[in-house]
Amino acid sequence: MDDADLEKLSIKPGSLTPKFHVNTTEYSATLPCDVEKLTVNCLTSDSNASYQILGSGGERTLPLKEGEVTIIKIEVSAEDGTTKLYQIHAKRLAARDASLTDIKVSSGSLMPEFSCDVLQYVCVVPSSTSAIKVTPAIPDKKTGVKVCGSEPGSEVGLNIGETGIDIEVTSADATNKQVYTVSVIRNWFSQAVTFIDPKQAKKFECPITLAPLYRPVSVSGSDPKHIFSEPIIDELTKTSKQDPLDATPLDVEWKVPERALDKEISSAIVQCLYSYLGCESKIKFADLGSHAKECASKPKTDVEIPGDTATCGDCSRKVLQGETDWHQANMCTSKHTSREIKHSIKDHSWEKKLYQSGGSGSEIEAKKQIELYRKSLPKQGQAGRIEGGKSPLDYLHTAALNLALTVKQSPKQASLHFQLGLVLEEQYYAQDMYGYKPEEEDVGQGLASLSLDAKESSKEDDIQAICVQRGAGSNAPLARQLQAIDEEYKYLLDSGQSGKADYVQTLYIWKSKQALQDGRAAQAASDQETPLGQAYLKYLDALSLDQNNALYNVHVGRLLLLQGKPEEALTRLQLAVGIKPALTVARFYLGLALAQQKGGPGSRSKEAITYLHDGLVYLLESASVRAEAGLDSSVDITLHSEDLWRTTNIQLFRGCVTLATLLRKSPQDKKMSAQNVFHSAALLAAQNLCTLVSRGDTYQSMEWILLDCHSHLLEMLQQKEPGNTSWIAQRCQQLTAMIRCSTLPQSIEILQLQEKTCQKGVMAQPTSSQTLCQLGNSQLAMYDNDSSSDVGKKALIDARLSYRASIAQEGKPSVGGELPEQLKDQAWWQDKIKEEEAKKAATEKAKAPAAAAAATKTAAGKAPAARGRGAPARGAAAATRGTAAATKGAAAPARGAARGAARGGTAAKGPARGGAATRGGAAAKPGPQAKTPSKASPSSNANKVTTPAKVNGTAPAKSPQPQQEKPTDTGKQTAAVPSNAPLNRITYPARLGLARALVREAKDTSESQVLYNDVIVMAPQIHDAYIELADLLVKDEPLKAVDVYDRFPFPEESSFDDAYLHGEVVRLLMKREQFDDARLEKHMISWGRVMGIGCLEKYVEILDSKFKTKLLMSVYAGVNRKTVDDPDMQAFFKFKMWL
Ligand SMILES: [Zn+2]
Ligand SMILES: [Zn+2]
Repeated sequence: MDDADLEKLSIKPGSLTPKFHVNTTEYSATLPCDVEKLTVNCLTSDSNASYQILGSGGERTLPLKEGEVTIIKIEVSAEDGTTKLYQIHAKRLAARDASLTDIKVSSGSLMPEFSCDVLQYVCVVPSSTSAIKVTPAIPDKKTGVKVCGSEPGSEVGLNIGETGIDIEVTSADATNKQVYTVSVIRNWFSQAVTFIDPKQAKKFECPITLAPLYRPVSVSGSDPKHIFSEPIIDELTKTSKQDPLDATPLDVEWKVPERALDKEISSAIVQCLYSYLGCESKIKFADLGSHAKECASKPKTDVEIPGDTATCGDCSRKVLQGETDWHQANMCTSKHTSREIKHSIKDHSWEKKLYQSGGSGSEIEAKKQIELYRKSLPKQGQAGRIEGGKSPLDYLHTAALNLALTVKQSPKQASLHFQLGLVLEEQYYAQDMYGYKPEEEDVGQGLASLSLDAKESSKEDDIQAICVQRGAGSNAPLARQLQAIDEEYKYLLDSGQSGKADYVQTLYIWKSKQALQDGRAAQAASDQETPLGQAYLKYLDALSLDQNNALYNVHVGRLLLLQGKPEEALTRLQLAVGIKPALTVARFYLGLALAQQKGGPGSRSKEAITYLHDGLVYLLESASVRAEAGLDSSVDITLHSEDLWRTTNIQLFRGCVTLATLLRKSPQDKKMSAQNVFHSAALLAAQNLCTLVSRGDTYQSMEWILLDCHSHLLEMLQQKEPGNTSWIAQRCQQLTAMIRCSTLPQSIEILQLQEKTCQKGVMAQPTSSQTLCQLGNSQLAMYDNDSSSDVGKKALIDARLSYRASIAQEGKPSVGGELPEQLKDQAWWQDKIKEEEAKKAATEKAKAPAAAAAATKTAAGKAPAARGRGAPARGAAAATRGTAAATKGAAAPARGAARGAARGGTAAKGPARGGAATRGGAAAKPGPQAKTPSKASPSSNANKVTTPAKVNGTAPAKSPQPQQEKPTDTGKQTAAVPSNAPLNRITYPARLGLARALVREAKDTSESQVLYNDVIVMAPQIHDAYIELADLLVKDEPLKAVDVYDRFPFPEESSFDDAYLHGEVVRLLMKREQFDDARLEKHMISWGRVMGIGCLEKYVEILDSKFKTKLLMSVYAGVNRKTVDDPDMQAFFKFKMWL
């Protein structure tokens, strides 16, 4: 009746784009210049409907004009008169057009779809695709076309990352040329590779992934070039627009593609992935993927390990060949029978709430809901918030509801308990990885017990409240938060409120666990109130009903591991492997459990390595398969806990790191090298960071893995090539950068890693200003974390020395040369030297006893007391302002919340700012701001930068630094300067750091003031220098603080960061009642423009009461970007009675 659809629509000659679909009403077609007429064929879907081609006079064949687009309108009329319009934009090319009618690719597909007017395309192909054939369709035989300069038809070799393929088209009349470009992108190769030439390994290494650069891009203006893999640098700069390596602010157009490098990397020669299994092929990196697919040495992997088996005489199970002893010793099910699980199924209160809603559940309905859930998950790059409509969590909740009801109906059916467990666990991942939050209203309906966040946030809220009350502010570093909780605890005890004190103590324990790597997941897994803890109980229920189910044992075992109970986990996992000796996942977890036993795997080390290695091989193969298919396919697969081999499973990574650590100690034949395992784990973790939607627990765990791998690889490099100091220094810089960029909360663990890494960097290049400055930053951060302890106090002294050393080295060679005195005065350095000398002495004793004795003597002369490096006692940190880079409205945790030196200052005040320069990373190159001259008139000492000598001269003689360099008495400490050694540049970060280090625990701030002024001259756009300098002045001379703020070279339009300075000027001038200060108007206007007029309200009131109406009118007009004479403004002023 009302059916006005077409069933078919086609043209002759040519074809439609897109392909015909009943609901698509707009099409286009490109036709050669010799096509004068076009015939349209239609078929209505209802035989009683009719159609007409508008304006054709009933003809189906229409004339086309050369070089023009003809719009063909087809109106379909249904029986009841309903009409529908289909349109074809048919372009007949002219002889002068240099256009194509189509482009075909032999792999992947074009994005966007081909259209003759679109010249740029992207085509994503599997990572193993090493060549592609691009076939352009030409409109006319006379049209000339070349693909990459050759006749079309042959294959084009692809780079490992991105390859630009140019299709040059010459019009039929040879008057015009046009170039279409197809960027072919290969999926990211997901395994570590070994270059034959070690120099290339260093040159091609991405500083973050430590794998070959993938789609390399450099930061414009960096020198030497800072080059990164594009996806990871995109991820790292998502919320913080800084060069990860040196914290330099990035320009808008900072990214420079390095295609030539991509090509160079692609043609470098690498070893086969399976060289450890005997393949000796040496292949171009670009061809590695296709070789690996076909390689004869490729290991066979599956969910169960393929291979020859023997039968156990006792339990008659099939055991892998060569593993009978292992089986007999711990796993044989007929020998080891005392593994009954003592657990009775209880009605959990949270479970009751699930089925209380009544009705009858069904497994089929649960499956349907799970399917809906999968489909509703965001694709990569989409945010986790759902605007209206159903949240994926709702589907999971309904699925859980259905399963809970079926469990109630058939409580003896183990598989139902198990499935409920899987769904509950998925709730944890959905919240953590995709950032879904349970709806408020659901909480009221009994979802509260299912909601991880609801429970955690109440604890978290309480902690934040305590922190604010105790002056730590919200978002304080972890150590400071712990200190505040501790203070509250003591206060409650003292005032006799022991009940409350007990609760606060639980908060302390809860919070302190967050400092550990597995912190939050481990908490969740052992907490009944969270989905993860509930899942564990359901797995346990299932297991108690079916104790000989290998899979149930695996799931209980892996969650026990997560809870930090490796002994109990071992029992479960040994049983799992006993039941199914070849089950890869059971073996992998058993390996992990063995390695996590107190004291390590001991005599079972080889066993653990075998299990973990089997798992790793399977993991890498699965990852390769994914790289073949494309990253987006992750959405279509099973629930997370149904497929434990997904790379989002953090325990897989723990297993890899554990395996590599074991392999370091005892390398094995036919197994990957420790180094390769670390590299592969780092790469996979980095790839995960790029794909995770939400920055939750999983994200941070991946960051830990990446840091772990970096740190192990650094140690291995030091051991293997101690002489390669430039590479070691480079790796130290990279790891320091990673720590600074990570979203991990500050903890003693991470601070120690940072300090240790910086020390290694200085050991490798002790005369580099940059490494010395970074060391200073790490020491200052140690002090700020725990300023009252001895460790903290020493760290502050060392920090000052490191910064002074950094400044003293400026202008001198960064490699080789004389050691800075300020370094030699540091206790840790003397310890290291002593250690080294002792080692050398031991090994060279026989050869050169005299030299060794001399060296020992030198070191002994300066031997300091050994320094404690253990974790400092609870809390105690100086509350510094703005340490929390509370970003404006960013949902994700801010990167690098002042892991470097934090600002000097006292208690938190004013709005928290995301300080761009809080990090104070050694910016070796001047940022764009350094070129901008300061607008404000320089004060007397601002014209020239204080030289190191002057700094030393004005230094309060507090720290035991020598005033001048003394000639060293030992030739040992002077290394030869290579002829090409670059000179250390003069930069601001060390001065900023020193200024901060001097402000801590100092009464005389004169040297700090000089240094802050230097920083302002050197880098006029670093907000922190102004703020911190003003802080020093504000107490005694508030108007001088105003002068400082006013020196800032404010841009035409102030940013959020600038607004803080405006606000401070206004606040200070108003407080001192400087109503006639000309600067007041300017700053009120700029402040109001950024923050909104509301922020001025209370000042407006004051000014109004003082009859400063002229000023007020100018401010209102200024904020509204209007003149005072503007009619609207005038009306407003009259209303205000200012006129
Ligand atoms: Zn091979
Ligand atoms: Zn047996």
